[in-house]
Amino acid sequence: MKLKLLVCLCTMLLLSGCFGKNSPKETIEKEPSIRVCLTQAINKESSIESTEDYKILNEKGTVLLEGKKLEPVKIAGKDGQILLNGKKYPTEKIEIKTQQDALVHVNSIPYRGNLFCVMDNGRFLMVNIVPIENYVSSVIGSEMNLSWPESTLEAQAIIARTYAYHEKAMQKKPYFDVYDSTASQVYKGAAKENEKSQAIAQRTRGMLLLYQNRLFKTFFHSTCGGHTSNAKQIFDYHDISPLAGVECPYCKSSPYFSWSFTIQTTELEDFFNTLKLPLPFRGLSIEKMDKGKRVMSLLVFYGKDQNRSIKASELRNHLGANKLRSTSFTMESAPQGVLFQGHGWGHGVGLCQFGAKTMGDQGHSSPQILQFYYPCAQIYRLWK
Ligand SMILES: [Zn+2]
Repeated sequence: MKLKLLVCLCTMLLLSGCFGKNSPKETIEKEPSIRVCLTQAINKESSIESTEDYKILNEKGTVLLEGKKLEPVKIAGKDGQILLNGKKYPTEKIEIKTQQDALVHVNSIPYRGNLFCVMDNGRFLMVNIVPIENYVSSVIGSEMNLSWPESTLEAQAIIARTYAYHEKAMQKKPYFDVYDSTASQVYKGAAKENEKSQAIAQRTRGMLLLYQNRLFKTFFHSTCGGHTSNAKQIFDYHDISPLAGVECPYCKSSPYFSWSFTIQTTELEDFFNTLKLPLPFRGLSIEKMDKGKRVMSLLVFYGKDQNRSIKASELRNHLGANKLRSTSFTMESAPQGVLFQGHGWGHGVGLCQFGAKTMGDQGHSSPQILQFYYPCAQIYRLWK
């Protein structure tokens, strides 16, 4: 333990001030909101409805529609304008406002808070503005099974809140902070909340995970397969102690701990064709692995005696993350193709969800789970 603390201290000195724009030093008065882009509605016609009083306003605040009950309204974007029930409105943004705590259904999924639609460089977006604690309550239920141990769910709540608040603080996108999918973290509105998820969000209310009193991106994933990844190597993110990667003995019971599949030669040739290299395709081998035994790069052999190095993530993107579940794999020849055998599901950075479940089952508290997966990070309550 002493050695570990010393390593953490050294890293703190070396990295002082090199990451994270936002450095929360005091508590804030009001619970923040998060702007969530609903991916199901991007560039699509969507139906919205609510059983409560509502107002639909344009960007100048003029009321376009209002009433006691919002019957299903079709919303879409076309030619830089917004259409309500097929009628064009000369506005690039509309807001749908309801009473506090009212639910608005978008394509039958209930959402809390308010919504707005906007044309963003020709792209039609629908964004849900939701109080962060409601958001966290939904993410816990969307990302984990709510029957899992409470300490595991608390850890997920703290990192989901930190992730979202970090994205809000960075303000990378003009109209929203996070997507509602694995591009950020999964959020399925009020449909994924229940009393337990609300109680967990409330118990951890305002709690964020900080490193050197700064926000960082609290990555997480399903199953690491034995060792979590280094954020610098996977995402070219800051090389910091909480995201350096740890050996994980806790996820062996995950259904995704081990997997294998055979890929046909023709499918590998399809991938080869996307690289636009001269024929013939002669094979593929592992070039470089990291200390967590994840494949970093592969060598593609082609032509007479040529080869090229490619990132393992390129092959994973081509085959799909549900097939090549992680980059922790080996390859060997098989009849008519190549046998892939691997461990884990996901990028492997940060908290391993199935590992956190086992830690919770074994009686570890949420601070202990977070300390294990994000060494040297600390929990801080930013709002009450
Ligand atoms: Zn693990």
